[in-house]
Amino acid sequence: MKIMRLIILTCFFLCGCQSPIKPSQPEATLETAETMDTLPQRPDVFSFSRHDQVKITHLDLNLKVKFKQQIMDGFVTINYKVIKPQANQLILDTRDLKIKRVESIEAKKTHKLVWRMGQSIEGLGSELIINLPDNHAPIKISYETMPQASGLQWLGAEKTSGKKHPFLFSQSQAVHARSWIPVQDTPSVRVTYNANIQVKAGLKVVMSADNNNQQAIDGIHTFSMQQPIPAYLIAIAIGDLQLQTISEHVTIYAEKEILQAAAYEFASTENMITATEAMYGKYRWGQYDLLILPPSFPFGGMENPKLSHITPTVIAGDRSLDSLIAHELAHSWSGNLVTNALWQDAWLNEGFTSYIEARIIEAIYGTDRMLMESTLIYQSLVEEMSELSEDAQKLINPSKTSDPDDYFSGVAYDKGRFFLEWMEQQVGRPDFDQFLNGYFEQYAFKSITSQDFVAYLEHNLLRQFPHKITEKQVDVWLNQPGLPEFFTPPATQIFTVIDQQVETWLAGDVEAKQINTASWTTQEWLHFLRALPPQLNTEQLHELDHAFQLTQRKNSEIAHDWLKISINNQYQAAYARLIDYLSSIGRVKLIKPLYEALMEHPDLHNLAMNIYIKSRPGYHNIAIKQIDAIVGFKQPE
Ligand SMILES: [Zn+2]
Repeated sequence: MKIMRLIILTCFFLCGCQSPIKPSQPEATLETAETMDTLPQRPDVFSFSRHDQVKITHLDLNLKVKFKQQIMDGFVTINYKVIKPQANQLILDTRDLKIKRVESIEAKKTHKLVWRMGQSIEGLGSELIINLPDNHAPIKISYETMPQASGLQWLGAEKTSGKKHPFLFSQSQAVHARSWIPVQDTPSVRVTYNANIQVKAGLKVVMSADNNNQQAIDGIHTFSMQQPIPAYLIAIAIGDLQLQTISEHVTIYAEKEILQAAAYEFASTENMITATEAMYGKYRWGQYDLLILPPSFPFGGMENPKLSHITPTVIAGDRSLDSLIAHELAHSWSGNLVTNALWQDAWLNEGFTSYIEARIIEAIYGTDRMLMESTLIYQSLVEEMSELSEDAQKLINPSKTSDPDDYFSGVAYDKGRFFLEWMEQQVGRPDFDQFLNGYFEQYAFKSITSQDFVAYLEHNLLRQFPHKITEKQVDVWLNQPGLPEFFTPPATQIFTVIDQQVETWLAGDVEAKQINTASWTTQEWLHFLRALPPQLNTEQLHELDHAFQLTQRKNSEIAHDWLKISINNQYQAAYARLIDYLSSIGRVKLIKPLYEALMEHPDLHNLAMNIYIKSRPGYHNIAIKQIDAIVGFKQPE
């Protein structure tokens, strides 16, 4: 997310790892209290795998989904490549998996293999060490997930719109795929996969793979993903899903209660694909479908290939929040096609994507909307960076952390975006587009580091334009905190006018209802609310609310900003709406700042805790981890 992260939607953000690891019961367990610092050097500190020695290449998943027990039970068959001839072990990541058997498969016969669980580290899970069969035959692992799997959210029927059927969805980024598949869970390793998923008849299963519109919902669902992707992009969702094809490449999957609204809201998706192809080359994934999740989905969206997962909180009724779709679609080039090899380089995924998102919005909706979003984002980035360490303000972030989600700050998203915008301004749009086209072509279906990018940049842009972009300037962007002095922040006259209107209202020269807001877009409302002073008296709040019906707004972003103002000024007329808001959605970006605001006022602590106790069962683990810490929630012993 980002700065102004308040409006734009980013895919992933602020996730968190889950519960302490409870290793499964293998034949021989070697449980040691390792920490990340004591781990021997591995290619990716967030993965146990030694993919420099043996690398997985393909998965065949066969899983039975048991809603009552909240588990998946079955097996995965793994193909792999031995990189170092002397290597004799395959090391996989797991977390909270019950491993039952490990075998090799030859000529349809299975042979037991020697295996054991190795180290266990909180946040990362446990390593599964398998002795390779001599002939390097495929390996079959029989296993079961646990109800607490950090990458799966099981929702009872009461948490869905239809209230009749349960729902399940995965969120594998950054390191949660290992909680439902034993896998080399690092963005450095890419696999193709097939899946055979069994579930009770009547429920629809979708995955980040070829989804067959016509597949019967008779209980058996098959999928194939033929483009190699990292484990964090393997995704599944199951529910009482209906579908509507809205254009050549786009089908929307959602519960029937919101399908129509989603189809209207995201009608620009096909045009977005066309616009992006015109700038960066062909869309390489076939279909681009959207899955609208229940409101507890903790993120704005997740760029699962062929099938982005989308929060319903951007269904505003006026298409004003569909930059989220632009963002997730943009990941089809930056992130899914060219992938950061390590989470420390998250800006390669998110900065490029945020830049492309802005280009798509400009192409579809024009410069005014793009500039308004850009300005809001800039304001939020500045605010966010003021609370970050100097290292965390660098694009190439040298901080060490035990949680890869720490690399997904506004710096990766929005400072990354402004870096690319700045380069575009220096060399001109046609040349910069050509440069990016070449970059996507060069690294298609590869995972790269910041150093790879810098080498490519020097060779393919800086040499051609030595007087327009210097190595020193690139170094300032990548390795210095804050924003460079030579960067000109975005601004728009539209917001200047709003600032003046706020001033005249505060001065008492006009009444709120006299401000002409008839044509305001979501972005203008957000700027208006943020331009208000932090302290307002009850009379002023009533006047605003009466003039603009702010407490009743259905737009989730506008409601969020107004509720925050209401908390900060203890405007009690909005509390009922606040309770409803926090108990009906679970998107971290929208709920976390409101809990933080509540906790800043000692006399609102009880209110915060009461709302949280009621809402917590409906939140995703990722949200729970963060909000528990904010409100000081402790599970009863
Ligand atoms: Zn993203």
